[in-house]
Amino acid sequence: MSTPCPRVIAIDGPAASGKSTLGSELASRFGYDFLDTGMLYRAVTLAAIEQGVPPDDAACAEFVRHIRIEIRRGNPSRVLVNGVDVSDRLREPQVEEQVSLYSALPSVRAALLPLQREFAAAGRAILAGRDIGTVVLPDAPAKIFLHASTEARAARRSLQANSWGVVQDSAGAARDILRRDSIDSSREVAPLQPAPDAIVIDTTERPFDAVLALALEALGCAAG
Ligand code: C5P
Repeated sequence: MSTPCPRVIAIDGPAASGKSTLGSELASRFGYDFLDTGMLYRAVTLAAIEQGVPPDDAACAEFVRHIRIEIRRGNPSRVLVNGVDVSDRLREPQVEEQVSLYSALPSVRAALLPLQREFAAAGRAILAGRDIGTVVLPDAPAKIFLHASTEARAARRSLQANSWGVVQDSAGAARDILRRDSIDSSREVAPLQPAPDAIVIDTTERPFDAVLALALEALGCAAG
């Protein structure tokens, strides 16, 4: 008899380490909802830029009290700000450039924490981000942390960027990734780090099928 799959799966890792690809594939195999939590930080960043709110904790504390962020569950889930679905705008260069500054602010993190926990509590769910296994869901029954070299991540991000209609070469992607990693790893609140009980998978040299096989083995359950 096969073991049932964990009801909630946390996937963390740096930019372009493969979290969304893995999360979405597992979600479709298991029939779960998938949330890329980076979209929430990107949505706040986009809204703040458009309203002229600087990446300052006091200004953002006031700002996040007055905006409504909603998640439309699915695989992938979508994000709405004040009733408008902004999911397709979250890769715009201005967001890419500033998201790590806004997401380092305690007020922004505090505003987004309950939304992520509600998402996990409301049904079978996979969440990908930077602090899911450490802060958002420290009791998650399954945690995966993905690693990959900067070069591998930059090459992937440059390919992805082209598919999003953004022109970015590998060198530009590497610069962007290193800058975001450095801010994400050194911030005081919820820095990027593996949970002590996470299964760590290095995706640098592994094709996606091999990463998926390792993740399925680690989860120890059969797809429904
Ligand atoms: O995953 P993605 O690259 O879309 O995330 C964008 C940014 O959002 C990250 O660089 C990080 O600053 C922030 N983020 C975070 N915590 C999460 C998910 C994303 O701080 N759980």
